[in-house]
Amino acid sequence: MNSADPSLLSINTATVRAQWALPDIISALARHNIRGIAPGRDQVAATGLADAARRIRDAGLVVTGLCRGGMFPAVDRDGRRAAHDDNRRAVDEALTLGAKCLVLVVGGLPRERDGRIASRDLAGAREMVRDGLGLLHEYARGAGMPLAIEPLHPMYAADRACVNTLAQANDLCDELAPDGNDGLGVAVDVYHVWWDPQLKAQITRAGERNRLFAYHICDWLVPTRDLLNDRGMMGDGVIDLPTIRGFMEDAGYRGMHEVEIFSADHWWKRDGDEVLLTCRRRHAEAS
Ligand code: ZN
Repeated sequence: MNSADPSLLSINTATVRAQWALPDIISALARHNIRGIAPGRDQVAATGLADAARRIRDAGLVVTGLCRGGMFPAVDRDGRRAAHDDNRRAVDEALTLGAKCLVLVVGGLPRERDGRIASRDLAGAREMVRDGLGLLHEYARGAGMPLAIEPLHPMYAADRACVNTLAQANDLCDELAPDGNDGLGVAVDVYHVWWDPQLKAQITRAGERNRLFAYHICDWLVPTRDLLNDRGMMGDGVIDLPTIRGFMEDAGYRGMHEVEIFSADHWWKRDGDEVLLTCRRRHAEAS
């Protein structure tokens, strides 16, 4: 396996969110000669959308995705309407930032207003995702912003995303955009899909319809101590990253490799420059 092309490295700003605000991250990426960025909406809002867009443009960064829209299920019509309105704003923000796609974390079981899970109807939640996604796709297609469905590991089915495999995401794309790409595709995040026996087949399937919009990398630590915030640096865990990159490349993916590491007890406590240096080295050596 050839090593990863260093010019394809992108950084999801969550990776250094504990160290820096967005303007500092943008400067740091320039300092480290990293050409891609995937900002979080909260970080963009804290900087101001227009200011964030200008800084990113001035730094010449490719925006590999805006993180994130989705969270479609809700207990009632008002809740689903509020989600739709927020998702439309996310599409507009992604356009202003010149993002390659809006990444969608689709949401899990619907919640009460106080945050408690309101239902055990997982199939119903998945129908709400399909319906909400269909509505958002109409808007995003008109606006020219690709939507990337990110399947999440099944341990998040209740609270973050009830689309848990690439097969499910591909099925949604087939149902809502039967003629091919049409601005609807998938984000392949190795943390969520590395275990899937159908991984290669489903990456190939997405590639055949030009639906591979984003590729997120990190590693799976053994043991994993926190479901959300204990992601590993590439090379520190058990994911065969070069092989999965090979699946992506064979399926026609030519986009960037976005490092996305939530790591409360480790990388978020390190010096930000050290984190970026390590990302650069491990991207070349272990991805
Ligand atoms: Zn991701």
